[in-house]
Amino acid sequence: MLSFRQYLSFVIACTLFLAAAIIITALPMIEYLPSFVQIGFVAAALFAAIVLVLAVSFERYAIFFTTITVAAAALLLAGETVKNAALVDFVFLAAWYILPLNFVLFAFLSETRLVSIAALLRTLFLFAEFAAIILIGFSESVNAASVLLSYEFFQPPMLIVGVPQAGLALCVAALGALGYKIVASKQKTLAIAMAFALVAALGGVWCYPLNGASWAFFCCAFATYLMGFVYLSYQMSYYDELTGILGRRALYEALDRLPAHYAIAMIDIDHFKRFNDDHGHAVGDQALRMVATVISGVRGGASAYRYGGEEFTIIFGGKNREEAAGFLEEIRAKTAASAFRKRAPDRAKTKPKKPQKPRKAEELRVTISIGVADNLSKTMTREMVMKAADTALYKAKEEGRNRVIVG
Ligand code: GH3
Ligand code: MG
Ligand code: MG
Repeated sequence: MLSFRQYLSFVIACTLFLAAAIIITALPMIEYLPSFVQIGFVAAALFAAIVLVLAVSFERYAIFFTTITVAAAALLLAGETVKNAALVDFVFLAAWYILPLNFVLFAFLSETRLVSIAALLRTLFLFAEFAAIILIGFSESVNAASVLLSYEFFQPPMLIVGVPQAGLALCVAALGALGYKIVASKQKTLAIAMAFALVAALGGVWCYPLNGASWAFFCCAFATYLMGFVYLSYQMSYYDELTGILGRRALYEALDRLPAHYAIAMIDIDHFKRFNDDHGHAVGDQALRMVATVISGVRGGASAYRYGGEEFTIIFGGKNREEAAGFLEEIRAKTAASAFRKRAPDRAKTKPKKPQKPRKAEELRVTISIGVADNLSKTMTREMVMKAADTALYKAKEEGRNRVIVG
């Protein structure tokens, strides 16, 4: 999982995009620059195309379908060219309902694959929305529909000029739902991107018919998604999928940037093969996650990495092996004391005749052995320090496991 600081930097990047769109909108010359509309249109189209390709390659269809939603809204609004004022007014009003609805819908539907019934249904749903808007927009009841969408529940008539009250309420609710999604999901990058993209897309709708400004906001929405994919790919390359802590690639980069003095610890779970044999691989994975969580909480300004399998590495910058050993002893003791329960116990295949007493959940524990070494005593290369830590780990195993050995 990305750290809080990394998520914060992503939020700041998204905010800067939005700020840029607002500044462009506020520029007085925008109305006098007819070419700005064309530039904005081409830029938005390019951004949208790249986002769609990325969404397919990363298999993130919430991004794919919301991009199509925003692009469709943008194109319909640019339908000023259609010279049908009633249609454009209706699209403007409908956008305040359709955008939040689609963002929430696609954010909460589980991910799918490109060629699947679920993807087909979602595509059909989008087509149905699009067709309904076109059909109503060109029908005689378009004005009645617009009146309905802009129904005023209370005075003053509009909270924000031109925005339908119910639509605005829906947008606020959608942002609340996306906020919940950000808090609840482990992988928050794209959920954050969706919240910002919705705000930007609504900004684009609101700026209508100031077309140039609208395109600045639509570009902002797509740029937010592009940035989301940059963060996502960073996360996928540097973080370990199973445990959520930094992985081998991040470790190698950290080893390239070691400070002058450091200590390195190698950690291995004890008798983990037997643990897997006794409880199954899935419970083994659960134990790995638990150990990773404890290890990544190590104090002393250290950073923890999953080296591979059931082995972890911790780097202590500016610490010697004795200082490091103190912090390592804390995580060793904490791991040994952390009991966890098997998740999702096997269900009986046949329904028992009599209701059975729930079995007492089995409490499981694992221990870890740790070897630590530093480069303070001799002029050692980092390979030698790691080797020394490995040798100390081996000694910890020999001496009975569940201990820290200073190498
Ligand atoms: P020791 O105390 O000497 O370290 O014994 P051990 O059984 O832990 O040592 P060994 O290195 O022989 O076994 C490592 C085991 O870790 C083998 C493999 O089944 C398990 N393992 C490695 N990676 C994973 C993983 O991602 N998930 C699960 N569940 N098990 C893993
Ligand atoms: Mg091992
Ligand atoms: Mg082991």
